[in-house]
Amino acid sequence: MQAASYNYPTRMIFGPGSRAQLGALLKAEGKRRPLIVTDRGIAGLPFVAEMVDTLKSEGLEAAVYSEIQGNPDKPQVTQGVDAFRAHQADSFIILGGGAALDVGKVIALMINHPGDVFDYEDGNPDVPPVDKEIPFNICVPTTAGTGSEVGRSSVISDEKHVKRIIFDARMMPPLVVADPELTVGLPAGVTAATGVDALSHSVEAFLAKGYHPMADGIALEGIRLVKENLATAVKEPTNIVARGNMLMASSMGATAFQKGLGVTHSCAHALSAVCDLHHGTAIALMLPACMRFNAVALPERMVRLQAAVDTTMAFDVWLEQFNAELGLPSGLAAVGVKEEHLAALVEIAVKDVCHSCNERAVSAEDFEALFREAL
Ligand SMILES: [Zn+2]
Repeated sequence: MQAASYNYPTRMIFGPGSRAQLGALLKAEGKRRPLIVTDRGIAGLPFVAEMVDTLKSEGLEAAVYSEIQGNPDKPQVTQGVDAFRAHQADSFIILGGGAALDVGKVIALMINHPGDVFDYEDGNPDVPPVDKEIPFNICVPTTAGTGSEVGRSSVISDEKHVKRIIFDARMMPPLVVADPELTVGLPAGVTAATGVDALSHSVEAFLAKGYHPMADGIALEGIRLVKENLATAVKEPTNIVARGNMLMASSMGATAFQKGLGVTHSCAHALSAVCDLHHGTAIALMLPACMRFNAVALPERMVRLQAAVDTTMAFDVWLEQFNAELGLPSGLAAVGVKEEHLAALVEIAVKDVCHSCNERAVSAEDFEALFREAL
């Protein structure tokens, strides 16, 4: 029997309209001055102004930091720490998609911890101790994909645009408010791509090395929820049941991937670094080829994935059909990836930490073959 280290579960307030509870939840912790961390796109939406007004009417003084755009990087973190100090904030509401949640979690970490953000990178042998207070934070996701609200890590890009994973068990937010009403404005393309990312988290976690039956169980139900709800969320954006089930499936995927991810995420991280592809799009394009690669090593697990989506097709074939139904592109060439990118893609994918959890070992030659197959 293998040893394991779990952090389950996160306290979560779930449901349409649940954002109305934010003020009461902060006050219950004795907090009065939250900093709302969000991205530039979200900051202009009516629900942010509404949130600030509602908090004010409840006696809380909220400020907004919204300098997050594109891939999360170190300056966004440093400026956020400054904004927290300038507001004399005592807590965070971290609001947005994966980028905003990732940056917000690292800002919270860096308020009382010394040194450079990248000192806290996963795998650094000299990582400083995370033993000081991390200010109380509530994560409020506005996309259904990354599930960063229940995760213990954040992805932050360095100066060379390489995505580095900042990790500590204490980075897991203490409280999540998951309100599906905040996701109804997502465009169809983003809904589809982020939804397939959520699916991939459950799939890769289920196939990852290691003993974790709790993760496996959550992953299989997460996969079923995506299969049953994603196409509806894409076609009927205001369908709150489909939106709610996707938001839940997203949290479940990220809860499951405490077990680990796999080869698909290493490929996707390389595609984002080299070709600036959206993470979910990269995942959708790589997933079928990566599942063919994994099926050789894990035939029994593939049968269980087929059962989770209730198909008699091979799982990789089902994935291709699902991508098409969602209107996602097929083939990396269609999104501008070229033969000349292959060397750089392989170099970054090999160094990426995710494929260390893949049951079947992945060599540089394997990565090249996978990118070629997906072209
Ligand atoms: Zn992902």
